Amino acid sequence: MQKSAIIIGAGLVGSLWAVFLSKAGYKVTIYERRPDIRKADISAGKSINLAMSFRGWKALETVGVDDEIRKISIAMPGRIMHDLDGKQNYQPYGKEGQAIYSVSRGGLNAKMMDIAETKGGAKFSITTNVWMSI
Ligand SMILES: Cc1cc2nc3c(=O)[nH]c(=O)nc-3n(C[C@H](O)[C@H](O)[C@H](O)COP(=O)(O)OP(=O)(O)OC[C@H]3O[C@@H](n4cnc5c(N)ncnc54)[C@H](O)[C@@H]3O)c2cc1C
Repeated sequence: MQKSAIIIGAGLVGSLWAVFLSKAGYKVTIYERRPDIRKADISAGKSINLAMSFRGWKALETVGVDDEIRKISIAMPGRIMHDLDGKQNYQPYGKEGQAIYSVSRGGLNAKMMDIAETKGGAKFSITTNVWMSI
């Protein structure tokens, strides 16, 4: 008999966890109280991009979805500080060839939900009252 799992919240962790659980043989249902982010106009809301570093990539690599996310990320090898005298000072975020990666939070969440559905076989239930729906 197939094991089943319920995840509350279709955020970054819930969507990624769905892929992990499905790889472990679970049939996954995710309950989310907000409207489906993939159908909402993300650009209309305020959103700060995420800065993804090694730890984030490692989690994505583990379930084999890192290549898909790299397509929607931008490398940030460093930043430039402007001091009061107008001088600029470059500060790298890592060693030569390393970077952290800027990803739209909403875009990443939407992509992770797609991946949870296609790679994790997860079913989403968008509901304002999770406990009544289970
Ligand atoms: C301003 C800001 C900047 C950040 N910058 C970075 C960064 O640069 N790099 C980085 O790695 N991390 C960053 N973080 C942290 C990162 O956003 C979180 O670690 C990540 O979003 C956590 O994912 P999550 O799935 O646990 O939670 P969330 O993404 O918050 O998702 C939780 C989901 O659960 C749903 N939910 C909650 N309660 C219920 C309920 N009762 N029933 C149904 N659904 C429910 C919510 O609607 C939501 O969709 C930042 C966080 C903030 C606030």
